[in-house]
Amino acid sequence: MSSYPTIDYDFDQQHIWHPYTSMTHALPTFGVVAANGCELVLDNGKALIDGTSSWWACVHGYGHPQILAAMNAQLHTLSHVMFGGITHHSAIEVSKQLVAMTSDNLTKVFLADSGSIAVEVAMKMALQYWQGRQQPKKQRILTVKNGYHGDTFAAMSVCDPEGGMHTMFGNAVTQQLFVDAPQTPFGATLLADDLTAMHLMLTNQHESVAAVIIEPIMQGAGGMRFYSADYLKALRALCDEFNVLLILDEIATGFGRTGKLFAYEHADIEADILCVGKALTGGYISLAATLCSDEVAQGISDSPSGVFMHGPTFMGNPLACAAASASLSLIANNEWQAQVSQIETQMCQELAEASHFDGVKDVRVLGAVGVIEMNRQLNTAALQQQFVDLGVWIRPFSNLIYIMPPYCISQSQLTTLTQAMKTVAKSVGQQTTAKTDTQFISHG
Ligand SMILES: *Cc1c(COP(=O)(O)O)cnc(C)c1O
Repeated sequence: MSSYPTIDYDFDQQHIWHPYTSMTHALPTFGVVAANGCELVLDNGKALIDGTSSWWACVHGYGHPQILAAMNAQLHTLSHVMFGGITHHSAIEVSKQLVAMTSDNLTKVFLADSGSIAVEVAMKMALQYWQGRQQPKKQRILTVKNGYHGDTFAAMSVCDPEGGMHTMFGNAVTQQLFVDAPQTPFGATLLADDLTAMHLMLTNQHESVAAVIIEPIMQGAGGMRFYSADYLKALRALCDEFNVLLILDEIATGFGRTGKLFAYEHADIEADILCVGKALTGGYISLAATLCSDEVAQGISDSPSGVFMHGPTFMGNPLACAAASASLSLIANNEWQAQVSQIETQMCQELAEASHFDGVKDVRVLGAVGVIEMNRQLNTAALQQQFVDLGVWIRPFSNLIYIMPPYCISQSQLTTLTQAMKTVAKSVGQQTTAKTDTQFISHG
């Protein structure tokens, strides 16, 4: 018999910040005391089927024996050691796996502590690369609107300029270059003018642009938009033409989520710099990585300082690397392929009818991501309670009701999720005077 701790909700409400919330007008929280497989267990004993994979991370489900065993063994031999002047087996293992599973040109690995830091590292790499290539004016980053790349300052600077946090911090956020987001939907023929603005911007600004950063195929927290692989292919060609690096942010899309191991495989292209995170450890502990090509690493070495100036305290944390290595071994079994394709087929079948509901703007599915887009902003807190009452953990934001379940979800669990999405979408559509959340919501 395990006994669970009591949740002190009062303390939580009064003293602990949760993502994207006010500390003086705290939103309700749900106390989770355990998690197993695809279920979260609340302190009242109720089990919820998880539709979020804890924000894209927990792809193998909770309490997976192989990941737990790897972490347990690592914990008792070497839970942490500094990475300056020291190396260890788990960092080497996970880096070998990353180099092997990504495109052939990506050979160098920087182990970072979170996705935002992996993006910061990628941007620093791009800027320093051009210093090493005698083009020190190439110091700006070009991106598309509706992007999301994290919450630290450099990452914020390339998030969507309207939905993001630019206005909150004014001049403290570096002014980067933006063009409209890709408009061609995934699977459609490339719209004739979809890259016109990108082409024009590169024509005019390429002397000051170090890199283009983009989330390949799926723009996540910026609106759950799936766009054309041909767009990505054309963007790669433009970057080559204008001598600009391409940074792909696969932090949400990596490790099978969109139906390919990496989303860039839909377009058959290579990044110069690649960011991974979230599902890297299977969602057991924080770890991210930035990979780059030999050419990028060489350019950085040719820069005046000759070294790459970044080195977090917990860089290459052994416990995180052991979790990641075990998770990537599970990915290497390739079981995810059949699982993601089954999830995709089932979501297509079960969510289709929602496109006829009142208030629904669009229904879309790609890989193990299913989205019902409503035509107005949603009240996250109110809908959250509704989902919990239905026995599922689904966290809507903006005007989106969406799921990205663990790959190991059963067919009946997935049906429970899609039913709940439809029930809630229907009820939202039927409300005539729904309250809306006016506060800023990112992926919170
Ligand atoms: C979540 C996310 C990040 C930020 O990762 P954190 O680990 O939250 O810092 C960056 N880019 C994308 C595409 C993401 O989805």
